[in-house]
Amino acid sequence: MQLLKDRIRRDGKVREGNVLKVDSFLNHQMDTALFREMGREFKRRFEGEGVNKILTIEASGIGIACAVAEEFGVPVVFAKKTKTKNIAGDVYTVKVESFTHGTVYDVIVAKEFLGSGDKVLLIDDFLANGNALEGLAELVQAAGAELVGAGIAIEKGFQSGGDMIRRKGIHLESLAIIESMDEKTGEIVFREDQK
Ligand code: 5GP
Repeated sequence: MQLLKDRIRRDGKVREGNVLKVDSFLNHQMDTALFREMGREFKRRFEGEGVNKILTIEASGIGIACAVAEEFGVPVVFAKKTKTKNIAGDVYTVKVESFTHGTVYDVIVAKEFLGSGDKVLLIDDFLANGNALEGLAELVQAAGAELVGAGIAIEKGFQSGGDMIRRKGIHLESLAIIESMDEKTGEIVFREDQK
C-alpha cells in the first residue's frame, strides 16, 4: 500500500535491534485518516470471506483493528495481556513472548466474545517473529472459531514471522513489507512485488 510505505519512509525511524519506530502516526500518536485508508485496503483484500469478528492484541493493534471493523461492520475483540497468576476458567489463554519487551505474557480472551460460530480476521500493527500472531491464531483455535486470515500493517520481511505464518497456510496480507532497514543510514527498502 503506497500511502503507508510513503509515510513509513517519511516519518519512520530505524532504531537498533531491528526496531522501527512509527510513534508519530501509528502506535503512539495515531493518524486516523491513514487508519481509515488501511481499513479500506484490508476490506478489499478480505472481501467476501464472511468475516464477522476482528481479533487483535492490546495495545497498538486496537486503533487499526477498529478502522478495519468499521469497514466490515463487525465488532473488534482485543486479547488482553495479563500477568495474573490465577486466571478464571471463563477465558481462553495462550502465552506470547513480546518482541519489544522480551518478556512472556499470558494473553486472554473471554469465552463470551469468541466462539464456534465466528469467522475471525486477525489484525496487528507489526509482524516480526510472529509470536503475537501465532498466539492470536491459537486463541481462535481454542475457541473453535474459523480463522479467515491475518492483516498486518508493517511486516518486517527479514524476520521469520511472515514465512512461519504463511507456511501454516494462513492467508496473510501485509500492507507494507520491509525487506531491509539500516539503523546507521536510516534507509528502508520495501519488497517490491506488492499490491
Ligand atoms: P512478533 O510477535 O511478530 O515478534 O512481534 C509483533 C509485536 O511486536 C507487534 O504487536 C508489535 O507491537 C511489536 N513489534 C515488533 N516489531 C516492532 C517494531 O519494529 N517496531 C514497533 N514499534 N513494534 C514492533
